[in-house]
Amino acid sequence: MSSVSEQRRARLLERLNGIEQRIVQACKNASRQRDEVTLIAVSKTHDVASISAFYEAGVRDFGESYVQEWQEKCAQLPDDIRWHFIGHLQSRKSKYLTEQIHLVHSLDRSSLFKALNKHITHQLDVLIQVNVADESTKSGTSVDELKALVDKVNQSEHLRLRGLMALPPFVSDPEVNRPHFEMMASLMQSLPAWVNRPEDISILSMGMSADFELAIAHGATHIRVGTALFGARDYGA
Ligand SMILES: *Cc1c(COP(=O)(O)O)cnc(C)c1O
Repeated sequence: MSSVSEQRRARLLERLNGIEQRIVQACKNASRQRDEVTLIAVSKTHDVASISAFYEAGVRDFGESYVQEWQEKCAQLPDDIRWHFIGHLQSRKSKYLTEQIHLVHSLDRSSLFKALNKHITHQLDVLIQVNVADESTKSGTSVDELKALVDKVNQSEHLRLRGLMALPPFVSDPEVNRPHFEMMASLMQSLPAWVNRPEDISILSMGMSADFELAIAHGATHIRVGTALFGARDYGA
């Protein structure tokens, strides 16, 4: 397997340590334990060698957004990686979410629920993605429609609802998103009462490179950090 240069490895580990320290501090400020927060390294567009460098440093949770890209990487990397599917999923691709997917963060609409419910025959853990700022350009169920989608997943034989995911607007000052994080925290409190197995509800996925500290302050259990770990993404050829 190809590996990164020593220089790149040192840079990646330096970033990982920096993020780790910030998570520790954010947990402390929120009177939470460090082990209440899982760092997901969002590896979309980044190469297998960089993922391996983080893997060797102990990271086991990685996030991918595109089915084919994930499949290619998954085939080349160790089996004990917990793969998080965080991207927009086309219904016709739902059958590709095999047992190797640890958690789907992006169940965002009832048509995708129908497709997953039809094609998935193993137990698949899912989060419902909430369009918390009601942005027309973003995926996610609206806050108003959330309960209806929860009811559906609640009836499913194979999909197991574990919590909620949010992708708030991109803003330069994360403070602007504070009301959205508050809204997610409050929805998360309501959720257990809406399902048959309230004990399954334990995951709140929110917070990215720019705002994970604020997310931790509002109860995030899973933060999804890409750029601050891997560096900028290159979507070019
Ligand atoms: C790409 C992506 C991230 C990571 O974003 P960064 O700003 O690079 O940390 C997190 N969540 C989702 C859903 C993403 O698509």
